[in-house]
Amino acid sequence: MNQIKSVNPFTGEILKTYTPLSEAEIKEKLKASSKAFDKWKKQSFKDRSVLMRKAGEQLRAEKNKYAKIISLEMGKVIKESLAEIEKCAWVCDYYAERAENFLADEPIELPDGKKAKISHEPIGTVLAVMPWNFPFWQVFRFAAPTLMAGNTGLLKHASNVPQCSLAIEEVFTKAGFPEGVFQSLLIETKSTNTIISDPIVKAITLTGSEKAGASVASEAAKNIKKSVLELGGSDPFIVLKDADIKSAAETAVKARMINFGQSCIAAKRFIIEEAVYGEFVNLFQENLNQLKSGDPLDENSDFACMARADLASELYEQVEKSKKAGAKIIQGGEKPSKDSAEFKPTIITEIPKDSPAYSEELFGPVATIFSVKDEEEAIQLANDSEFGLGSSLWTSDLKKGEELAAKIESGAVFLNAMVASNPHLPFGGIKKSGFGRELGKYGILEFVNTKTVFLG
Ligand code: NDP
Repeated sequence: MNQIKSVNPFTGEILKTYTPLSEAEIKEKLKASSKAFDKWKKQSFKDRSVLMRKAGEQLRAEKNKYAKIISLEMGKVIKESLAEIEKCAWVCDYYAERAENFLADEPIELPDGKKAKISHEPIGTVLAVMPWNFPFWQVFRFAAPTLMAGNTGLLKHASNVPQCSLAIEEVFTKAGFPEGVFQSLLIETKSTNTIISDPIVKAITLTGSEKAGASVASEAAKNIKKSVLELGGSDPFIVLKDADIKSAAETAVKARMINFGQSCIAAKRFIIEEAVYGEFVNLFQENLNQLKSGDPLDENSDFACMARADLASELYEQVEKSKKAGAKIIQGGEKPSKDSAEFKPTIITEIPKDSPAYSEELFGPVATIFSVKDEEEAIQLANDSEFGLGSSLWTSDLKKGEELAAKIESGAVFLNAMVASNPHLPFGGIKKSGFGRELGKYGILEFVNTKTVFLG
């Protein structure tokens, strides 16, 4: 059995190793989840809310400890790790307050005078397969609605963040959740299919790559189980000539560099009307070069390193292949040193259609900037992608912005702002970015039995 390793990507130091759970131990956890569900589903929303609020309090009470685990294990700079913990507490409060309302019975009056109602019942154990990039947030945005709906949760976290996985379980335990309601499973990737096919597991949610999503969703489908997939994105960031270019360029850098570029909703393709292209590129570069690199634990660092050395070398390959295909690297693009997760922020322009920079997701600090002649070409280019997660559009004409938003193929459009997840707003994609929604009312409705009761 391969050990699960927690490695500091900034130093390469192995922090801890864990032995994955055996088949028998996994079975025990599944049984505990099912047993916990029998009681948990009967608890009132009020009781569940009290515990969910306590989870938020626990996160806030030990936020420095949890943030440090994130930074050490996947290289996020500490100020972003602290913000991530705060956001998790927010989503706990959000669903603690609103779940009952979101899931309240809905009466229906039929045209013939007869009555019916819709109720939303919990379904049982939901398995979450989660990634390392926002190792707390991705889990809490699944767990808060899922547990508030009366389900129990199992977490199969990414293999490079086992300490985060255990720390999250600790949050729920310290908050007082009954045993088995939320469990972290430190398992080998290949054990996931056995869990998906176990009758105790009723549905699966995955955030991660297309490849992982296709594998997990196929296994779920084979077992006639629902899945929600939140996969990659190659979000366009469109700047029209009537936009506030200074503010667009400032936000563009934030939107590309958040989490050192390792975010599904990071802006990845900057599509700029030619009249303001030169100005935008200069301002983008200026803003980018003001960011400070350093140790992830240093509160002055704006970026540190990628989450794993293999991710840095994969990204380099994409940049190199794009260069060979004719793209112009105007900054960065250097090969990372062997076994290093460090990466120089990179800007690519003049990108040919047959290059990875045009068609693939660049999951790191690499910005691609395109010049287009007008709005129409901007929308065409934005939609010329297999992905459809988020998008950002900059214009001073809000009416035009709304009209263009309707033409963009994505799960979200943000006008004059960067795409950001927010508990109040449904989140998810179309095309190869996945299906289903998280957050808001739509998020909590994914894992319930929407039951029709005909009352006569
Ligand atoms: P993966 O998609 O491989 O990992 C995400 C999660 O899926 C992890 O828990 C992983 O487990 C699990 N997983 C992967 N393959 C399978 C499988 N066949 N069956 C069951 N579970 C599986 O991400 P990577 O770490 O390899 O990152 C590669 C790329 O994925 C990135 O460059 C980026 O493009 C994309 N990605 C997108 C994210 C998003 O937010 N949408 C987040 C992270 C990555 P394990 O770690 O054990 O393999």
